[in-house]
Amino acid sequence: MIERRHALIPPAPGTQRELLSLHYGPTGTGRKAVIQASLHADEVPGLLVAHHLRRRLAELEAHEALRGEVVLVPFANPIGLSQRVLQAFEGRFELTSGENFNRHYADLVPRAADLLEPGLRAGAVASVATVREALRDACVALPATNELESLRRALLALAIDAEVVLDLHSDNEAVLHLYTATQLWADIEPLARLMGSRTVLVADRSGDDPFDEACSMVWPRLAEELTKRLNRPITLPHACVAVTVELRGEHDVDHALAAADAEALIQYLAWRGLVDGAPAQLPALACEPTPLAGSIPVVAPHGGVLVFLRELGDTLRRGEPLVEVVNPLDGVATVLASPTDGVFYARESRRFVPAGTRIAKVAGREAVRSGKLLSD
Ligand SMILES: [Zn+2]
Repeated sequence: MIERRHALIPPAPGTQRELLSLHYGPTGTGRKAVIQASLHADEVPGLLVAHHLRRRLAELEAHEALRGEVVLVPFANPIGLSQRVLQAFEGRFELTSGENFNRHYADLVPRAADLLEPGLRAGAVASVATVREALRDACVALPATNELESLRRALLALAIDAEVVLDLHSDNEAVLHLYTATQLWADIEPLARLMGSRTVLVADRSGDDPFDEACSMVWPRLAEELTKRLNRPITLPHACVAVTVELRGEHDVDHALAAADAEALIQYLAWRGLVDGAPAQLPALACEPTPLAGSIPVVAPHGGVLVFLRELGDTLRRGEPLVEVVNPLDGVATVLASPTDGVFYARESRRFVPAGTRIAKVAGREAVRSGKLLSD
């Protein structure tokens, strides 16, 4: 294993944070997977999964069972977990800019297209290897003037030439679910089976460029751009399968769950041929993918105490009572119904909320929303 430290831009003289990446297995095979934990720094389950992965990857490396490089970023956000406000962690938004740590990843398409265009005009073929090289170079050329931009650039540089990117997150309270690109479903289905995912939310543009989309969608978007520039069809494969794995809720942190999740991730890499010992058979699929645009939030119409009437993972019909918001001052208890037919997959972890809070999410089959599809 090789340990690499990536220095971030110091926000002030005398301060310096760094990103740590652990590199297992052989390099130079053209095969690479990246697993990163807790880009939203206060989403802790991924940190424990990374702890288990570290041991498993060391074992696999010792047994020469890795067929490509596996990069583990055991803590993807050194800025976030050092942010505290009145004793509470703030790991989702950078306090300086207010920006979400999992948004605004760079669009490498223009720069990579600039790098590839002359060769393609001269008759070269856009191979996966040459495109990856262009993406790496485009990433190195990204401007970064502050600590957050340098973190985003360092994370993207680690993952941009990988064929698998697994970004480990968690929700407030939730069943295990995945976010990925619609066109990647066939590649993600084995992961959904292995992890027992209860919901898979798909979109090709969910808005504000989260990390997984920046890594995977750059391939079809680059093909589109090159086709436009060269005025002939340029096809590229989906050479990066990237997925956001929501490891249930923020308090679902225990060794049994984390060890099983780590094993499922390893099995997925094995299924793809990156690790020896592929499972002979995959578990049954627990859900079909549904559009992210069909995931409907339930919003509190007034402040109050939350009393959930249904359990996470329940399949609901539209109009079925889901949650009650109780105002202790006026005695009003508003019952809110499921906004769609679908799986009740995530909910607020606090039990007293202000008006306007998104308190529950139900994954329906019909795409009814548009614009920015992710929550803030
Ligand atoms: Zn997250």
